[in-house]
Amino acid sequence: MTGFGITHNPGRGTFRRLQVLRAWCLTPHMRRVVLSGPELAGFAFYRQGLGPYVKLLVPPANFKDPGWPRFDAAGAIEGPVAERPVVRTYTVRDFDEALQELTIDFVLHGDDGPASRWAIRAEPGDSIALLERGFSQPHGVDRYLFIGDHTALPAIAQSLESLPDDSKGQAVICLHDAADKQPLRAPPGLSLTWLIDEGPIGFAAVMQAVQQPLTAQGEHIFLWVGAEASLARSLRAYAKNELGLPRDQHSILNYWRQGFAEGAFERSG
Ligand SMILES: Cc1cc2nc3c(=O)[nH]c(=O)nc-3n(C[C@H](O)[C@H](O)[C@H](O)COP(=O)(O)OP(=O)(O)OC[C@H]3O[C@@H](n4cnc5c(N)ncnc54)[C@H](O)[C@@H]3O)c2cc1C
Repeated sequence: MTGFGITHNPGRGTFRRLQVLRAWCLTPHMRRVVLSGPELAGFAFYRQGLGPYVKLLVPPANFKDPGWPRFDAAGAIEGPVAERPVVRTYTVRDFDEALQELTIDFVLHGDDGPASRWAIRAEPGDSIALLERGFSQPHGVDRYLFIGDHTALPAIAQSLESLPDDSKGQAVICLHDAADKQPLRAPPGLSLTWLIDEGPIGFAAVMQAVQQPLTAQGEHIFLWVGAEASLARSLRAYAKNELGLPRDQHSILNYWRQGFAEGAFERSG
């Protein structure tokens, strides 16, 4: 692909039922779950895309083998199922095509979220399902700036691994606990900055951590953000109003919103 731009692939994809193969805690608040099963056959993993994500259908608690739903023509879940699974968005941290293993890293934020609750207890043999969704792939980028919190760490890690070796830029990763840092493989020209604070990490702290101004003339900058909605909102306003970054030079998503379950808030508003 030549020229500058961004490819989005938000396809609806295929419904696949999978089983947990292995699960363990990478760090105190991040649990890795490796999924497998015959229905993974044909799974399309866009390794070169930034933060490929899927929609997980997380079964209700205590359903080891849920009665999975059917879907109507518009993609909505059709009943009846005794207790519906909830739909949650997660990054494909890795996909091993040869072994047919798909890896997802879950932030453990407590039992108030069905996905976090499921992940804490996940053990081999448990069922879950997914719908393939998408990824974004910018082209012709001179310099990347990734900004994300704990939930975006899987996407940033996957993106840094997938970028060409000569890629340049910075990744700013905000965590509440230094013990949740992970070793990341990044191109040599892409620096990593960890911001650690027990409290919320706001726009000012993030901007202070950015090493090079974003307004460099003649450079094609790509700004990637995955964060709690309030930080994402500030960065979206900054990108639009202060930097005037065109739409194809940023991807800024509300990865979650304080006090709201997924589905109860807009991703990009
Ligand atoms: C494209 C994309 C990719 C994502 N990839 C990942 C990923 O790889 N790993 C990952 O862990 N998350 C990821 N997320 C974020 C994840 O979808 C949300 O955190 C989701 O809300 C978790 O669902 P839940 O059922 O645990 O909680 P919900 O039922 O959605 O929320 C319940 C309560 O928990 C709060 N909450 C939700 N998430 C958090 C959190 N991280 N910390 C503190 N409180 C929280 C909510 O504000 C709410 O009050 C991704 C989001 C997007 C949009």
